[in-house]
Amino acid sequence: MAAQQRAELWELSRRLIGFNTVSALSNVEAANYLANYLEESGFQVKVVRDDVKGVTKASVVAWAGPRVERGLIISGHIDIVPFEGQPGWKSDPLEMISDDEKIYGRGVTDMKVFIAQAILAAKQGSLKRLQRPLMFIFTYDEEVAGQGSKRLVGQLPELLEGYLLPEVALIGEPTNFEIFPAHKGYGTFEVAVRGQGGHSSAADQGLNAIDRMSQVIQIIKEVGRDLKARITPDNRQLFPENPATAFNYGVIQGGLAANMIAETCQLTTSIRIAPGDNVDAIIDELRQRIESEIAKPMRQIAPECGVTLGDFISVPPLNSPANDPFCDVLASVMGRRGERGAPYATDGGQFQTLGIRSYICGPGLIEEAHQPNESLPLTSFHQGQERIANLIEAWCVQPS
Ligand SMILES: [Zn+2]
Repeated sequence: MAAQQRAELWELSRRLIGFNTVSALSNVEAANYLANYLEESGFQVKVVRDDVKGVTKASVVAWAGPRVERGLIISGHIDIVPFEGQPGWKSDPLEMISDDEKIYGRGVTDMKVFIAQAILAAKQGSLKRLQRPLMFIFTYDEEVAGQGSKRLVGQLPELLEGYLLPEVALIGEPTNFEIFPAHKGYGTFEVAVRGQGGHSSAADQGLNAIDRMSQVIQIIKEVGRDLKARITPDNRQLFPENPATAFNYGVIQGGLAANMIAETCQLTTSIRIAPGDNVDAIIDELRQRIESEIAKPMRQIAPECGVTLGDFISVPPLNSPANDPFCDVLASVMGRRGERGAPYATDGGQFQTLGIRSYICGPGLIEEAHQPNESLPLTSFHQGQERIANLIEAWCVQPS
């Protein structure tokens, strides 16, 4: 990389790290900055604003190149995970710094540097040479079960005003340039039990909410066991360590004191959904079993008691073909093939609902993401832009 390019990459990355785009906050300033930068670089740009619980958030969609088929989306998320109250930070998380080996700051790996690399890679190759469309999609709330891209995909086709939606996407999450054609979906839901209190000396006269929650957990376990019994060969290959759809109990709270019958209990659960499993059917089965086996008998004793299952929020699974012309080009640029699924969900799951084949591949190690002193090796910092430039060249400028 030439010194001038290095300086540009440093400056754009540093600016992006400087915006506090923790998912709970507005990312509009950062989105506008990206939009201006892309417009000045020659892209058509749309900023899509949404109101999320009173906070304005924005996604950026930008495109260049002829109105033909077989375009490429390069996508990343603008939001970052929180750092306040996270012990271990040795420097200001919003100020990008470096030593001889690495750069540091919240989002250097997950995934603002990738965004900077991609934009500069496109500029480096000159947009006038594009034979196929190149599109950037930068989202918000990826770290909140992909809710930003979920809203965006609903409006994306009309937003493009006749411009053809590309069929393939590169999602630059940190994989150390390994290619992942798939990942499990991810969802969360809450279960709330409302019981009937009383003195613990007459424990069997009340409706103990913690006790009923243990029955809910039993049902979730049984449904999980059934899912394990029907793992597909594909999922065994993609996720050799954890091939099945699986539940996790994340947070539980209930009751007030040892000598009282617990009146309430809440459980927050997550689910990792293997490609091919129908998550709506799984949640429906849970709902029906909880209703008939626990909630209904409770209401017969006391009508105000029962169990409620809250809204289900999810990112769908991703399952793009490993045998694919775009994946072949990506593999030759990165120097390796991808056959395994990623251990986390991405915006690619939402894109798949539009028929876009997404592949996850980017600079940095996933182990560094969400950590204090989040870092990216200087080699990945500089190589990333070259690799993305090579990919744009191979897919969009000189397609074979
Ligand atoms: Zn990420």
